[in-house]
Amino acid sequence: MKLKTHILLILILLASFGLKAQKIDIRIFADTKMEEISFVPSFGKYYIEFDNKKQNLKKTDIISLNVKADKVRLSINDSLIGSYKQIKFLSEGLMSFFLLFPKDTTIIKERRYDDNLIVSVQDKALRLINNVEIESYIAGVVQAETWGATTNVDFFKLQAICVRNYLMMNLNKHKIDKYNLCDGVHCQAYKGRANQVEVVQGAYNSKGEVIVDSMGNIIETLFHSNSGGETVSSVDVWGKHFSHLVGKQDTFSIGTKAYQWEKFIKIRDWQRYFKEKGVNIKKDSVKYELLNFSQKEGRKKEMLGVSLIQIRKDFGLRSTFFDCQEWGSEVKLKGKGYGHGVGMSQEGAIRMCEEGYEYWQVVEHYYTGAKVKRLDEDKIINGNKE
Ligand SMILES: [Zn+2]
Repeated sequence: MKLKTHILLILILLASFGLKAQKIDIRIFADTKMEEISFVPSFGKYYIEFDNKKQNLKKTDIISLNVKADKVRLSINDSLIGSYKQIKFLSEGLMSFFLLFPKDTTIIKERRYDDNLIVSVQDKALRLINNVEIESYIAGVVQAETWGATTNVDFFKLQAICVRNYLMMNLNKHKIDKYNLCDGVHCQAYKGRANQVEVVQGAYNSKGEVIVDSMGNIIETLFHSNSGGETVSSVDVWGKHFSHLVGKQDTFSIGTKAYQWEKFIKIRDWQRYFKEKGVNIKKDSVKYELLNFSQKEGRKKEMLGVSLIQIRKDFGLRSTFFDCQEWGSEVKLKGKGYGHGVGMSQEGAIRMCEEGYEYWQVVEHYYTGAKVKRLDEDKIINGNKE
């Protein structure tokens, strides 16, 4: 079974090599001030380019790079070559990847990246740009977000499409910095190449696919862990209405791993909290509501005039979808769901895929009125470069 999957993956990858793959520039280690790093070619053929010179690299070569004033000092296998404004590590052929070892491995351990690396110095630190094929980047982001969640390829296809939506909407986010996206949470978390075979398949099998609204515009595809059985409208969370982000029943999220939660809070603290919010806790009806608040009839926005989003934040709750119950000297919050509840529930989506729904049906379930559409990625990226 495993072998079969691998052969399939290789076939898929080979099929995609027929097309000229488009690459984008991602600033890596964007949130870490790095002064020294080692590069090791790990798979495929690499050469190094500096000062119009070109030199082939061997798999056993260790290339050290560190900051020297406004240049990068280059050493290969401990012998100093010189200092340069820019050094490029370029791959020849297919499926190449390299390893990076930061000097201080207590912060970040070694990482693997696909394709190319361009190194220069900016603000006394190394500026590292991973020039990487779109689908490899997408797979890397999906893996950083969903590692180990499932082995269902259709689910990873969905996640890949969401990542591609973000990428297509934000290709110019770092235009001023002369790259496309950074690898921090500012853009999308990216920690290098994906190695879960289903994640890579999901990205390549959905090449060019994005989610659009009824007008054909690429949409913001928000997701969360579990809706608790009912998704939330974007307007109720951020005050902004989107026709594809409206609350609806979601039975697929019921009973999965993150479906339920509980939290106990001392009645004293619970009362004090509402008192501080200006609620008259001496009133009998308020006293009752504090211990018997319920959302059994559906999601509410407030409890005693206090926004549930605020309560969730202040008590570190998994969701705003909870009921209250008296439990000795404490109040028991019995909750459903995990996350803001807007858009796609990841656990619900996994359940749908495992039950045999097509990935576009999952899209249509969670994003009202939205559709999957295939774009000419190459055209968009090229158009963007002009
Ligand atoms: Zn960024």
